[in-house]
Amino acid sequence: MWRDWLREQIDEIDRRGLYRRRRIVEGPQGGEVIVDGRRLVNFCSNDYLGLANHPSVVRAFRESAERYGVGAGAAHLVCGHGRAHHALEEELAEFIGRERALLFSTGYMANLGVISALVGRGEEVFEDRLNHASLLDAARLSDARLRRYPHADSAALKRELNASAGKRCLIATDGVFSMDGDLAPLPALAALAKQSGAWLMVDDAHGLGTIGDGGRGSLARFGLTQDDVPVLVGTLGKAFGTFGAFVAGSADLIEYLIQRSRTYIFTTALPPAVAEATRASLHLAREESWRREKVNALVSRFRTGAAQIGLRLMASDTPIQPVVVGDNETAVRASEVLLSAGFLVAAIRPPTVPVGTARLRVTFTAEHTEAQVDRLLEALTRLLPGISAGDRSEQAMTA
Ligand code: PMP
Repeated sequence: MWRDWLREQIDEIDRRGLYRRRRIVEGPQGGEVIVDGRRLVNFCSNDYLGLANHPSVVRAFRESAERYGVGAGAAHLVCGHGRAHHALEEELAEFIGRERALLFSTGYMANLGVISALVGRGEEVFEDRLNHASLLDAARLSDARLRRYPHADSAALKRELNASAGKRCLIATDGVFSMDGDLAPLPALAALAKQSGAWLMVDDAHGLGTIGDGGRGSLARFGLTQDDVPVLVGTLGKAFGTFGAFVAGSADLIEYLIQRSRTYIFTTALPPAVAEATRASLHLAREESWRREKVNALVSRFRTGAAQIGLRLMASDTPIQPVVVGDNETAVRASEVLLSAGFLVAAIRPPTVPVGTARLRVTFTAEHTEAQVDRLLEALTRLLPGISAGDRSEQAMTA
């Protein structure tokens, strides 16, 4: 019975054009990767600054493993919180300009652990419809009531907040939306939070390292502080090129999370070598501003080129530059055509994105060259007649 059920589920996923296939990447991450023996230009990584395989980051990892071993041995509160973790927390707090930071094993776990510790039954969480799955799942796990507002619509949020006056409310949003690349209207959200007495939490997984003064993310882009956004989540597996996540905020917020956040308390600490490698990559992200400048220049080149060939892009100036295609099969086909032309570009389908907005999620990193961007544009030009369905999508905007 179970066997039949599983097969039916998988067949149904396939019938709906939602079957997901993994590809085995040989060798390290980078602007180019080897898949099935072929060298492909990699336009789907979140290693925006090109640090995942940087020699200093690799060296820090190796030396730390030799010094501390591999496993952390236990959860932070038992005996797993090592000198490397502590130093990284202090450096992250200093980088982001907050009193303290707390490491989590992944961004997914950070979001689950923070929201479920901060709110519960009888309270409310307001989330942008396009928030990352981990923020949405976190609200469900918390037992608070989840209210989703239309994407970036602060007027709608205001109406909903008014209706919840008197309750303890948390507003949670991506800083940079992971599948669209646009920014949340953070100044408006911060003002609403203040007016209504709600707390604002920003998951800046894709903004930290890539945008804002010194790579301090979407809050820095808008000049917002801890007072505006008391809860900030960052991830380490994207621009910082390693693995893990952190929450930054007031000393009391962090102390409370240490006491109450279940995904912090009941899990093994990150390997210390990951923390040491991240200290090295944080140093590079801060010192080598050319990495950010280079990604931004490649993004501008892509957007200018796209406008010239009539390819419609979304309203994003971040390294995430999706090409909305519309239906699932067309997105998968477009990704396969690009693959045969030597480009690795992921087709993103529901439930990761809303139905009817399947897309090619093109991302740029400091490892790419102008010539590679131009070649991608040429390949997209050839694809254009087949993917123009995206024009009909509400989400599509001009470049
Ligand atoms: N938040 C956002 C906005 C993300 O895009 C992601 C990863 N895709 C996460 C959280 C989860 O981070 P991690 O991969 O470290 O679990």
